[in-house]
Amino acid sequence: MKINGNFMNLKDSYLFALIDKKVSEYRESNPDKELIRLGIGDVTLPLAPAVIEAMQKAVAEMGNAETFKGYGEYQGYAFLRRAVCGYYEEKGVSLDENEVFISDGAKSDVSNILDIFDTDNTVLVPDPVYPVYVDTNVMAGRRINFINGNEDNNFLPLPDNSTEGDIVYICSPNNPTGAVYTKEQLKIWVDWALERDAVILFDSAYEAYIQDKNLPASIYQVPGAKKCAIEFCSLSKTAGFTGTRCGYTVVPHELVRQNSSLNRLWLRRQTTKFNGVPYIVQRGAEAVFSEPGLSQVRESIRYYMNNARIITETLSKLGIWFAGGTNSPYIWLKCPDNMSSWEYFDYLLHNYNIVGTPGAGFGNNGEGFFRLTAFGNTDNISKAMARMSNG
Ligand code: PLP
Repeated sequence: MKINGNFMNLKDSYLFALIDKKVSEYRESNPDKELIRLGIGDVTLPLAPAVIEAMQKAVAEMGNAETFKGYGEYQGYAFLRRAVCGYYEEKGVSLDENEVFISDGAKSDVSNILDIFDTDNTVLVPDPVYPVYVDTNVMAGRRINFINGNEDNNFLPLPDNSTEGDIVYICSPNNPTGAVYTKEQLKIWVDWALERDAVILFDSAYEAYIQDKNLPASIYQVPGAKKCAIEFCSLSKTAGFTGTRCGYTVVPHELVRQNSSLNRLWLRRQTTKFNGVPYIVQRGAEAVFSEPGLSQVRESIRYYMNNARIITETLSKLGIWFAGGTNSPYIWLKCPDNMSSWEYFDYLLHNYNIVGTPGAGFGNNGEGFFRLTAFGNTDNISKAMARMSNG
């Protein structure tokens, strides 16, 4: 028996463990201090009433022999896939129900999709990045190239003729930087991919936070994208489903490589390895896309985006460079006075009792930057910003 030796190549992920350690040490020596956490990558508001109502109804159905459900459809129930298609229709994107696959969230699918690609592919990953893209490819032993996000390109790297990769991850709105590609910029990625038969794995987990209607909330708003992109989305941040678990992945019929439909390969993979998302959860997810559901989840998003505004206004006043925060719940700031990410972490913790996330945890290009999130409570965020403003 041999283990998968690629696991030895994974870097230990100390980021959140080290944050917790530093915070508990500080708490122990300063029990009277009130800490405010602005590093949370999880939603805090409860599920929408429309979702709760739909799930309660579904629970009742499961308790009745006539309406009880066993295994569901492999791709997800048609009622939910139709609701997702309707949601895309609003963005001007027309999808066939069979192009939509219901998942238990974007994290599983951005990782599992790799099953349909040979390990002998080069993966292109932006730096800084959501660490899952890197680690899942390290586990599979794939070659990884990085493309640099930095202050000069506003953390929106673009390819040129020398950029190499067979599979590329694009996350927009981005975690951790909050940066969002324009349609014109995404078109550059689409053309680059089409030219070399590459495949774009487009993570749109934060699309619902886009306020500027000119920005693309789906890569399929860009011509040609159905021939080169798979899109992953999730109700985690759209509708507070981080603990409820439901997402969707779009694999267009037009996406064909080596005469194989990637939609068929993915369906084959899913029917073999996945037995679907609970019926109750899929009914809750369907309710997100109903009229009352959408209006309720948009209300929660407005709450978070108001928090983001409070943060960005403070940073602007303090003359601190930042990206994000206007079309995303993440704010990515440049640590003042050339502090490193961890120096700034300690500085905020000790001087203002604020906890954030050091950018260095998201890749080499994250050094010198810092992530704040808008997922907290407005009163606490205002208090934290007042502390920073009053120096
Ligand atoms: N993609 C990105 C960029 C994320 O930041 C996250 C969660 O933080 C996910 C995917 C995972 O989402 P899910 O909860 O749907 O698995």
